[in-house]
Amino acid sequence: MTARIMIVEDEEPLTLLLRYNLEAEGYAVDTSARGDEAEVKLKEAAPDLIVLDWMLPGMSGIELCRRLRARPETERLPIIMLTARGEESERIRGLATGADDYIVKPFSVPELVARIRALLRRARPERIAGKLAAGDLELDRETRRVSRTGREVHLGPTEFRLLEFLMQSPGRVFSREQLLDGVWGRDVYIDERTVDVHVGRLRRALNRGRASDPIRTVRGTGYSFDERFGREEPLSKSA
Ligand code: CA
Repeated sequence: MTARIMIVEDEEPLTLLLRYNLEAEGYAVDTSARGDEAEVKLKEAAPDLIVLDWMLPGMSGIELCRRLRARPETERLPIIMLTARGEESERIRGLATGADDYIVKPFSVPELVARIRALLRRARPERIAGKLAAGDLELDRETRRVSRTGREVHLGPTEFRLLEFLMQSPGRVFSREQLLDGVWGRDVYIDERTVDVHVGRLRRALNRGRASDPIRTVRGTGYSFDERFGREEPLSKSA
């Protein structure tokens, strides 16, 4: 089956270049130069993946991404964001808004094509199942349930989102600020210590009576989902 890719980009030479290269790879390509127009097209028919520019007329890429994630039909649509901004905080913001990958302009076309291929390959089975799993821990996005060794773990909505956010990027260390941005939303003003409180609650719920802790505290930095969790036993109990 031919994968359909939508390019949302207002720089016409770049759109043409991408269309040419992606069609040469065998993809079916649709394009849009405006955020608002793309939103209308996407409501009619969702492609298999979107390459979405950050700065667009009509509606910004980041806003479109947020809206796509809010709709059940497109909440798992693979999105690669394009941007001229390479700062880490912008990168995190893009990923927190729901982009799956992020590429900074100027980029090489073969690199983008490789990322598209990787994302399509990785997206399909995972996205259909809607489940994140590591070791004996399983998080189901559809039913909003979490279990360890098959037994349900009861989490509050914030702890659920926190775990989901961390599990999406195993091994990646997030600062408290990044977690506030990604889990609580960037317009919310909460003390960073709130993050510690919720991580504490999440740990207590997940680890009741167990030795291994999937959440890693990185001193002076923040938290991450331990990428070795479930792979190397035994894990030491985290501080
Ligand atoms: Ca642009």
